[in-house]
Amino acid sequence: MSKIILTGDRPTGKLHVGHYVGSLRRRVELQNSGEFDKIFIMIADAQALTDNADNPEKVRQNIIEVALDYLSVGLDPAKSTLFIQSQIPELTELSFYYMNLVTVSRLQRNPTVKSEIAMRNFETSIPVGFFTYPISQAADITAFKATTVPVGEDQEPMIEQCKEIVRKFNSVYGEALVEPEILLPDNAACLRLPGIDGKAKMSKSLGNCIYLSEEPESIKKKVMSMFTDPNHLRVEDPGQVEGNPVFIYLDAFAKDEHFAEFAPDYANLQEMKDHYKRGGLGDVKVKKFLNNVLQAELEPIRNRRKEFQKDIPYVYEVLRKGSQVAEEVATQTLSDVKNAMRINYF
Ligand code: ATP
Ligand code: MG
Repeated sequence: MSKIILTGDRPTGKLHVGHYVGSLRRRVELQNSGEFDKIFIMIADAQALTDNADNPEKVRQNIIEVALDYLSVGLDPAKSTLFIQSQIPELTELSFYYMNLVTVSRLQRNPTVKSEIAMRNFETSIPVGFFTYPISQAADITAFKATTVPVGEDQEPMIEQCKEIVRKFNSVYGEALVEPEILLPDNAACLRLPGIDGKAKMSKSLGNCIYLSEEPESIKKKVMSMFTDPNHLRVEDPGQVEGNPVFIYLDAFAKDEHFAEFAPDYANLQEMKDHYKRGGLGDVKVKKFLNNVLQAELEPIRNRRKEFQKDIPYVYEVLRKGSQVAEEVATQTLSDVKNAMRINYF
């Protein structure tokens, strides 16, 4: 069986370092491993509209920002199909048929959607499109017969829901759909990177992000303002590394070579953590180290972005061609689905 990836992002803002460690970095590795037969990366503009219906301009503008972020982290249009969700109308048709296989109470149990509804103050009036976006996400995944979905931890309930739809569809109508597997980051710190404010998730909608395109001065300012252990008041005090955002970021980003370059007193992160826990290592020093690590990681990404930014028509052309390829694949799946349902009448 072929190995196929489908994943993507909502164009609700520029991509941030949470996206990078949660999904983007892995995608690029998988792309370059040559292990996969096809890779589809989707800019989920239709999904973004489900909670931004009154602001289509925001979604429209962020399509190009997300595409620039993709190219600048190393997603390569020669190896990965980059496309725009709304340009593939077959996805909507698939969603419509899948809706019959899911109950309202099943959707209401989805913990990610629950917390997103609370975050957006949607409790009393949830847009139907937003409420049902896990179904449309199942359409996105199955349209490409994806076997592997590399995403952050918040997407786990969506993949579960998708699997249930696949099983239900295949058992009612006959085998036409492929069950996907989630691929979570193997590093626990990357499952759900906290915001610089220490909140549970760095998220475009919460404004607690360090963006991939962020300028050096601004990265530094954000890092120096980050939350740490609130009880670590004096340098000599013993500090806590568990749940400390600065150390979570270091878990996600620091490599041994960063120590040789920026903190030669320590061979690796464990030694730095041990010193912090014993006492005698100040927050400012740790933050300066984190700043150096992030600057080293983000500089080449930012520079590549500036190059791609000079040729926006090229970026749109990449998306146009990718959308064409994606539509061909989705059309085939829709035909398989309609055959299985025996609704191909003519
Ligand atoms: P929004 O607030 O509009 O939902 P978002 O920041 O949550 O935006 P998405 O486009 O919903 O971003 O998520 C894209 C991908 O990035 C998903 O695979 C998601 O799991 C992953 N991701 C998002 N935020 C984080 C994070 N803080 N840590 C790890 N992975 C993340
Ligand atoms: Mg999200």
